[in-house]
Formats: sequence, structure tokens, C-alpha cells
Amino acid sequence: MKLLWKNTLSSLEEAISEEVFVSLIDPIELERIDDDIAHFRVPNRFHGDWVLNNLGDVIADALADAAEGLGIELERPLKLRYEVDDSLMDRLDAGARETSRNARPAPAPQVERVSEPIPPPRLNPKYTFENFIVGPSNQLAHVAAMGVANAPGHKLNPLVICGDTGLGKTHLTNAIGSAIRAANPRARITYLSAEQFTNDFLSALQSHRADEFHARYREQCDVLLMDDIQFLATREHTQEVFFHTFNALYQEGKQIVVTSDIYPHRIPGLEERLVSRFEAGMIADVQPPELDTRIAILQKKAAQEGIELDGKVAEFLARIVKHNVRELEGLLIRLAVKAELLGRPIDLEMARESTHSLLAEVETATTVEDIQKVVCNYFGIRLSDIKGKRKHRAVSFPRMVAMYVARQRLGTSFPELGNHFGGKDHTTVINAVRKIGQLLEEDDERVVSSIDAIEKQLGF
Ligand code: ADP
Ligand code: MG
Repeated sequence: MKLLWKNTLSSLEEAISEEVFVSLIDPIELERIDDDIAHFRVPNRFHGDWVLNNLGDVIADALADAAEGLGIELERPLKLRYEVDDSLMDRLDAGARETSRNARPAPAPQVERVSEPIPPPRLNPKYTFENFIVGPSNQLAHVAAMGVANAPGHKLNPLVICGDTGLGKTHLTNAIGSAIRAANPRARITYLSAEQFTNDFLSALQSHRADEFHARYREQCDVLLMDDIQFLATREHTQEVFFHTFNALYQEGKQIVVTSDIYPHRIPGLEERLVSRFEAGMIADVQPPELDTRIAILQKKAAQEGIELDGKVAEFLARIVKHNVRELEGLLIRLAVKAELLGRPIDLEMARESTHSLLAEVETATTVEDIQKVVCNYFGIRLSDIKGKRKHRAVSFPRMVAMYVARQRLGTSFPELGNHFGGKDHTTVINAVRKIGQLLEEDDERVVSSIDAIEKQLGF
């Protein structure tokens, strides 16, 4: 049974997106197969229902195929059943921390089968401007998105929304689509991810329907909303196709909106001509929201889902999850599911219990020492160098970078930082932080890439 499930998992892993896999498939176990029924254990009822309703066919197929690979003939179609096993609840939490995920998964998991035509995804009706909480961190992107929605194809074209995962890019993009549709029901709006665009193109090629493909995107489209264009990195062929699509639409005054988890010019292997097309439009970023915004988002989400959420609990949760709204919402939904299962309200105690693993992370938060170690490791110098007095660039540059990261990320005071770096004067630290900040602003390649890599290692 173990081997069968293992083989099934490897083929599922290829068939569905990583996010769906980690959050939904990972937490379940194959128990046994009787005749034409496969029995699973799942962490809770909600999870079981969701997986079986949405992924049941894919799992049944993969299971039967894997069995065949092992020389076992199973009945097809195979039926799936589940029973709840509480001990699997831990896996939900583990999965949540590994990836940014939604405990209540997005409506349609994307099952990628290149050979079949891909139905274009529909706009998510929940992702509206009304449901979007505006704060300093996302104000610019919000204003730009509203501008596009009010006057598509005018000044803000193309609009590029950039920012880390889980900060509302997809939400805003959908909101633009819905608002344009509400104002003009006949507008032909195409919303899809760059990955779907790629797959769609590949399948059009395979079935010799490139013309249909081009017509669909270039002629039968008034607004193109393309999510996650970082996927185009190093995919030269698709970039080429996208470039021509872009030009055709742009020349007709059609609105184009794209999102990316990094700035276009930092997408590895993105052709210069595409970068300059994007840069000719409006680039707006989304940053992690401030505490107040996070609290408001939680409250909005709770109201939307009919979850009763006390203000204190909202604040407690918002203080724990800082960098990803999807995780924040995931936490709320998990708590709501738990509360429902236990027949208890969500109170501070439950919030504490459910987040102790996350709290442990916050408590053992990064220290200046940690930053120094990672920086030393990155530049291949010794800890004694970074704390020392040598002024040679090979050590002074890493030292400045470490000071900068510590100041930005930990907010340590300048005099205290001076102490951490072998008793340096606070003005030395101030100058270092200022210098690196300046280089970053100038987009200095070396500074940008080293800080990116270092922060990534530190998990920021
Ligand atoms: P991204 O596309 O940037 O990865 P999403 O748009 O998918 O992020 O957002 C993740 C989740 O967080 C979604 O459920 C979205 O509705 C929610 N969200 C993000 N930012 C906000 C916000 N400012 N107000 C309300 N919900 C938000
Ligand atoms: Mg997104």
C-alpha cells in the first residue's frame, strides 16, 4: 500500500501545482483498497470533502495508473472514501509553514495536462475592490488598479503589479477585471496566469491550432490580465509569443495588466524588449501590510466567511503572521475549522494553542549574530573580520551589508549595532547603513543581489 501511494504521489506531484499538492495531498494517507473503493485518512472533514470533490478524479486515475504500473489491476472508475484521523492535523500546520497557502484552497486547483485545451479561468468573485483593505503598503497599487478599472487602455497601460507572494496581486488583478466587466458587460476580459498562457500555447501548437490561439489572445480580447509573469523567465519561445500578443493589444489601445513576484528587470532571462515594454507603463508594488491593515484584513475576511472573531484574537494573529496575507487568512480559516469541530468559539487560548509552533519561530527570531554569520558565509570571510577593524573592501563591504540588514530587519539601534560590530562608533554604523541604502536605490547590481540572497537565507 505504501509503495502504491508513493508512486501515486509522484505522478500527482507532476499533475498538479505544488501549492495544491503540499497543502491538500500531502496531509492525506491511503489506508486500504477494497474492491473498487480506495479508503483514505484525512485530517478533517472539510479537508476530505474538498479533496474528494475537487481532486477525486485526478487521484483515482493516478492511483489506478500507479497500481497498473505495479501489475495490479484495479476497478475503474475507482471510488474514493475517507475517514477523519485527527493525528493528521499536524501535517496541515506543517504544510502551512512550508508554503504560503490557503487553508481553504482557491476555487480551482490547476490541473495541468498540456494535451487538453485549457479553459480560461474565471475571475474570482470574492476578489473585489470592496473586499480589498487599503493601507500604506498597497495604496499605490490600489490607486493604480482603480485607475485602470475606471479608464482601461488609457494612461496606465500596461500596469505591472509587483510584490512578494500573498500580498494581494491576484486579488487586485481580479478586482480590475470585475470592475471593468460591471461597467461594461460586453468587455472581453481574459484573465490567466503566464503558466496557463504557456500551456495553452503549447497545446495549441500540438493540435495545430496556433491561429485560433493568436485570435483568442490578440483579437478576441479587450483586457488582458496576466498573473505571475515571472513564469516567463527563460521561456524564450513563450516570451516571443507574449511579446507579439502584447504589441497587438497595445496598438489597439487594449488594457494589459500583469503581476510578478519580482520587478520585471530582475526576472532572470526576461528579454530586454519585454522589460522595456513593462517599464514604459506603470509599475506599482505591494509590500507586507502594517499591523493595522493586517487586523482589518482579518476582520474583513472573518465577516465575509461568517466567522466570529474577537478584536483581541485578530490582533494576536496579526502580530504573528506579518509577511503574507494568504498565510494570515489560512491561519484564520484553520482556527475556524478547529473551532467548529470542537464546538468552541475562537478565543485567545485556542489561538495560542494553534500558533505555538509559529510563536516559537517568532521567539527564536533572528539576531544580529545570525545576520553576521550568514553574511560572512555569503562573502566567505570570518566572523572576526566582520567585527574587526580592517578597512579593506573585502571585509568592509560585507560589514556594511550586515549592518544594513540588521538595521532594516531587526531595527537595532545604531549604538547597539556598533557594539555588535566590535565596538564601533554609532556614526560609523549610520554611514554604512546610509551608503548601502544609497547603492540599493541606485540599483547597484552587487548590493541588490547580495542582499536578496542573504535575506532569503535568513528567511526574511
Ligand atoms: P498574490 O497574488 O500577491 O500572491 P493574492 O492576491 O492571492 O496574493 O492574496 C492572497 C490572499 O490574501 C487572498 O485571499 C487575498 O484576498 C488576500 N489579500 C491580500 N491582500 C489583501 C488586502 N489588502 N485586503 C484583503 N485581502 C487581501
Ligand atoms: Mg497571485
